Amino acid sequence: MTEPQDTQQVQTDTKSPIDWPAIDTVLLDMDGTLLDLHFDNYFWLEHLPTRYAEHHKIDEQQARETLHQHIQAYEGTLQWYCLDHWSELVQMDITTLKREISHKIKQRPHTQRFLAFLKSQHKKVILVTNAHRRGLQLKLEVTAIDQWLDLVISSHDYQLPKESPQFWQHLHRAEHFDPTRTLFIDDTPRIVGKAGEFGIKHLVCITHPDSQKAPRPPCQQHCLYIKDFDEII
Ligand SMILES: [Mg+2]
Repeated sequence: MTEPQDTQQVQTDTKSPIDWPAIDTVLLDMDGTLLDLHFDNYFWLEHLPTRYAEHHKIDEQQARETLHQHIQAYEGTLQWYCLDHWSELVQMDITTLKREISHKIKQRPHTQRFLAFLKSQHKKVILVTNAHRRGLQLKLEVTAIDQWLDLVISSHDYQLPKESPQFWQHLHRAEHFDPTRTLFIDDTPRIVGKAGEFGIKHLVCITHPDSQKAPRPPCQQHCLYIKDFDEII
């Protein structure tokens, strides 16, 4: 329950398209939502191919093609997000390789302000990510965003990716949130779609997950599209 003095200190834009009093729980994706997806894109498309080529003494183009085939084959599955799977596949330690470029891990614009806003509004804030626990740990170490979170859930804990309908059932059984009073924010339209199919009422999709790329146009998914969090605070 929000106390009157708390509502006074919250700098809410009355024009926010989100009906904040109608929301108790906020489920947040990490990569591309709270954090800049540039790190991940740079890692998988630049850093890993370079280091893979060096390690296996092949040319970089060949390394890119091999890795690209694997990325396409597994996209959207739990293995795609699993660092053990990738480490085995490339015969290198992915977590160590990620640490080599950890200076590139950055928050997206307005992330901290948005998390502070949610705290001031007494929302239950849960990070819900497909990131593997070790990759997740590195990002929390660098950004310290977990200070604003009530709970951190990796889909690997359930052995189900967020793309799976069973993931949402499992999350609901574990956390007892009311889907009609829950907001979910993610940058992947197919995942926003799954949350909507499960019954989560308030849905937001981020259109500018990677700061080094142009924003993506909204797709068919029925939800609110925003570039940055300042549009909904
Ligand atoms: Mg994401």
